[in-house]
Amino acid sequence: MKIACFSTKSYDRSSFDRLLPESDHSFSYFEAKLDFHTLSLAEGHQAICSFVNDHIDAAMMKKMAKMGIGLIALRCAGYNQIDLKAAVENGIKIVRVPAYSPEAVAEHAFALILTLARKTHKAYNRVRDNNFSIEGLTGVNIHGKTIGVIGTGAIGRAFCRIAKGFGCKVLAYDVVENEEMKKLGVTYQPIDEVLGNSHIISLHCPLTPETHHLINAETIAQMQDGVALINTSRGALVETKAVIKALKTKKIGFLGIDVYEQEENIFFKNLSEEIMQDEQIARLMTFPNVLVTGHQAFLTKEALAQISATTLANITAFEKGEELLNEVKG
Ligand code: NAD
Repeated sequence: MKIACFSTKSYDRSSFDRLLPESDHSFSYFEAKLDFHTLSLAEGHQAICSFVNDHIDAAMMKKMAKMGIGLIALRCAGYNQIDLKAAVENGIKIVRVPAYSPEAVAEHAFALILTLARKTHKAYNRVRDNNFSIEGLTGVNIHGKTIGVIGTGAIGRAFCRIAKGFGCKVLAYDVVENEEMKKLGVTYQPIDEVLGNSHIISLHCPLTPETHHLINAETIAQMQDGVALINTSRGALVETKAVIKALKTKKIGFLGIDVYEQEENIFFKNLSEEIMQDEQIARLMTFPNVLVTGHQAFLTKEALAQISATTLANITAFEKGEELLNEVKG
């Protein structure tokens, strides 16, 4: 099959190119983000391969159907960016990569926690300037802390295992409780109790209408003073305005984010020569206790290999008319 791959970065290309000789598929790589206009680049292809910030709405689905595109192969787990109803109406199948090294994201969440807790980002800069003073670098132990996990799916569970290894008390909230986690010693509680009882809160639930702005002024008020909030899931789980306010009052003591509600126009781009127009991210970056990474939690060699292998297997299953094990149904 001929597949038009959008929002392509060098690491996508090399990981697909490694596997393509073993398949009958050919990829056209486009750096452009997928939108109504760039969709024309997919003329002559039978499938589209897209990523997290490639929003596909009803008008685009209609255009795809006219172009003869029958499959959207998402090279990510989340699918909140897709109009699933419109996909069904236009007979377009959606497949995704449900789990690609959940440990990659869970470990990144912990990297954010450890960096903030031990100020290694500051130490790194200091010693490079031959400044070996440790004044102002006092950290906090993770051992013995209570960590609240919202969403114990593949990533949340990997995160809980790491947290247990650190000697933390782990609380969790999920709409479906997981027996393996209970055996591990994770305690499920209603969400307000998890928020209220945790020193560190890590978000691992998907973005849905129910979870949109799950973290807002009201839910922040339920949290402990000085709480650490970690978001490696989706930006819009968090109302940024409320978080900035809580950082100013020190209600939130640490913030680590790999995702941001308005990330679409910022992340995955080198804007170092430009003037930042987004006031909220600019404000967030002024706080010494805030760490922002640009949606890189998934970015490990192992995860990339898994993403390309699963995406190609999804495409092959579609081509052969086999059962789509990783289909996202509308
Ligand atoms: P998953 O589907 O395995 O798990 C999601 C869990 O959230 C499930 O257990 C589900 O029951 C639970 N859930 C659903 N609605 C909920 C609610 N209202 N409250 C609490 N829990 C709820 O997904 P996953 O693989 O663990 O991924 C989780 C999220 O991580 C994805 O949706 C995606 O947005 C994000 N993600 C981010 C990156 C990154 O690079 N930053 C990479 C992969 C995934």
